Amino acid sequence: MKGNINTAELENGFNGNVIKPGDDKYEEARKIWNAMIDCRPAFIVQASNSDDVISAIKFARKNNLDITIRGGGHNIAGNSICNDGLMIDFSKMKKVKVNAEKKTAFVEPGATLKDFDEEVQKYGLATPIGINSTTGIAGLTLGGGFGWLTRKYGMTVDNLLSAEVVTVDGKKLKANEKENSDLFWAIRGGGGNFGVITSFEFRLYPVGPEVFAGLLVFPFKEAKQVLKKYRDFIVTTPREFNSWVVLRKAPPLPFLPESIHDKEAIVLPVFIESNFEKGEELIEKMRGFGKPAGENFGKMPYVNWQQAFDPMLTPGSRNYWKSHNFTNLSDESLDVIIEYVNKLPTSQCEMFFAYLEGKSNEVPVDAMAYPSRDLKFILNVHGRWESKEEDKDVINWAREFFNKSAKYASSGAYVNFMTGDEKDRVSKAYGSNYNRLLQIKKKYDPDNLLKYNQNINPL
Ligand SMILES: Cc1cc2nc3c(=O)[nH]c(=O)nc-3n(C[C@H](O)[C@H](O)[C@H](O)COP(=O)(O)OP(=O)(O)OC[C@H]3O[C@@H](n4cnc5c(N)ncnc54)[C@H](O)[C@@H]3O)c2cc1C
Repeated sequence: MKGNINTAELENGFNGNVIKPGDDKYEEARKIWNAMIDCRPAFIVQASNSDDVISAIKFARKNNLDITIRGGGHNIAGNSICNDGLMIDFSKMKKVKVNAEKKTAFVEPGATLKDFDEEVQKYGLATPIGINSTTGIAGLTLGGGFGWLTRKYGMTVDNLLSAEVVTVDGKKLKANEKENSDLFWAIRGGGGNFGVITSFEFRLYPVGPEVFAGLLVFPFKEAKQVLKKYRDFIVTTPREFNSWVVLRKAPPLPFLPESIHDKEAIVLPVFIESNFEKGEELIEKMRGFGKPAGENFGKMPYVNWQQAFDPMLTPGSRNYWKSHNFTNLSDESLDVIIEYVNKLPTSQCEMFFAYLEGKSNEVPVDAMAYPSRDLKFILNVHGRWESKEEDKDVINWAREFFNKSAKYASSGAYVNFMTGDEKDRVSKAYGSNYNRLLQIKKKYDPDNLLKYNQNINPL
C-alpha cells in the first residue's frame, strides 16, 4: 500500500475529496458496477473541476502511482480502478448544461445517462446514448456509444461536438474539428487512452417527450422461426422504428403467463421514436412471427423507456461479457445462438442483439477512431451470476459461444463490451484506424501513463 505518501501537496488548494483506505467513504467509493472487480486503490480523488484533475495527475506522476479514471464505473473490464493506484473519480462532476436554442449540451464526465436524459428532456431534446441509465456518459462516449436513437442519429461519438481534455503533462486542451483535431479524432472511439476528459459537448435533437415502446414475448420453442422472421423483417423497417432481441429466462412480468416464467423466451423490445401509427402497423406484423406469449406496449415518456431495463442490469452482480459485430445474421449463426440459449447457466444470463443499421453506416471509417461502420447487428453475451463458485461455468459458457459464433461475425469489435482478457483484440477492434491511433497516442501519452483502458500501447 502506498497510503503513507504525504497528501498535503495534493490536498492544498484541492476542491474535491481525497479518500484513502480506512476512511469512512472508502469502501463505497471503490465499488464499481461489476462485482467481479475488487480493487483497492491507494487514493480515490473525487475531482470537482479540471484543476483538481491537473493536481491529481501531477501528484500521481510525482509519486509514481498508476492512474485510473472513473466515469460511471460501468466498464465490464473494470478499467476504472486498480490496486495501489490513484483513481480520478468523477462522481461529483455530473452537471448537464443545455443550450436549447443551439440544441447542444455541455456535460461533465461523472454524469450518468439518467442525469443526461432527464436534463435534456426538460427541453424536449436528446441524443443517442445507451439503454441502462446508470451507465456513465464518459466511458460510453469514448468507446462509441449506441442506443435506441442510433439508427436515426448515429453513434454517440457522431454527435460529439467538442471536449475539454487534460493531458498527462497537465495541460488543459480544447478538442474539436478545428483545435487539436487529431486528439478530437482519437477520443471519438479511442477510449480513455489520450487524456482525461473534463467536459463533453453534444449535439441534440428534438425527441419525445413521449415515445411508443414496449415488449413482445415469444416462447423459446418458436425460436428458429421467430428469429429468422425477425431478421428478414427488421431490415425492411424505417429508422425511427427499432426492435432488438433479448434471449433469456423470462422474468415474472405481470403481462406474461406464469407458465413461461423462468423459462427461456424471446423478448423483442420495440422503440418507436416518431410516426407511431406506422410503428403500430409494424408491431402487428411482428405478432405474426409466431404465437406471442404476451406483450406490453404503450406511449410513455422517453426517459421512462431509457430506464426500462435498469431492473435487469443492477450493479453488484458478477459479470463476464463477450461481443461480436455482424453485418448480417446467417441461419447458421442463429442456430449457434439458439444452442447456447438452451444452455443458459444462470437465470440472469442472456444474449442480446441490437439492430443499428442507419445513420452510423453513412459515416466514413476514417472519419474518427470508432471504425465499425459496416456493423448492422451487435451481439452481446451477458454472463451474469451471483456467487464465485459459478465463475467457471458462466465464463466457459460465454467463451464457448463466442468462439463458436466467431466465424459468422464481421470485422471489428466494440471496445466498450470487451473484457479485461481481450487485450490482443484491441488492434483488430480498430482495424484500419489503429495505426493512426498509435501515432496520436505517441504524441499525447508516449509513456502510456493512461493504460487502464482497451490499451493502445505506444511502448
Ligand atoms: C449494464 C450495462 C449496459 C450497457 N449498455 C450500453 C449501451 O446500451 N450502449 C453502449 O454503447 N454501451 C453500453 N454499455 C457499455 C458501456 O458503454 C461501457 O461499459 C462504458 O465503458 C461505461 O462507461 P462508464 O463511464 O460508466 O465506465 P467507467 O468504468 O467509469 O470508465 C470506463 C473507461 O472509460 C475511460 N474513461 C471514463 N471516464 C473518462 C474520462 N473522463 N476521461 C478519459 N477517460 C475516461 C477510462 O479508460 C475508463 O477505464 C453498457 C454497459 C453496462 C455494464
